[in-house]
Amino acid sequence: MESLSRSELTRLFPDETPRELSIPKLDHVDWAVLDYFGWINSAGNIGFVVIPYGNKHRALRMTRSLSSSRKPKTHMCSWCHHVYRGYGTALFSCNVAGSDGRRIIGHHLCKQLDCSLRIRNLASDPPSFMPETIALSEKIVRLENSVFSFMQRTNQLA
Ligand SMILES: [Zn+2]
Repeated sequence: MESLSRSELTRLFPDETPRELSIPKLDHVDWAVLDYFGWINSAGNIGFVVIPYGNKHRALRMTRSLSSSRKPKTHMCSWCHHVYRGYGTALFSCNVAGSDGRRIIGHHLCKQLDCSLRIRNLASDPPSFMPETIALSEKIVRLENSVFSFMQRTNQLA
């Protein structure tokens, strides 16, 4: 994706204070290998995602809860299909827009929101426990569609 500046990212989340948003340092971000830009706030409880959609960007804010179960289990990221043997995913959820907080949808995603690095095998930790044979281009389309479909299910793609 094209690079975004700190102020562009800030503008995409008008309801957040800079402290809540805690945008990471952007100097070393390799935008060319990103399908979406995702980060976790400094408190660790909120994940932010920005993804190109048409000629604009869409912004997504999700609550993150790390797994509280003691036993490591095999978990798959719903967006990039990376399979972890241990604690690689977290539960990300958000309110369905227009439901007054009554409907919440959640799913398990790479806990650092680094799916783009996972599908390109650029993450430093172990590769997927269950590697796939499909082409990178197909993984990219699947990843983008998964993000859009989550936005649609939570009424945020109007
Ligand atoms: Zn992922």
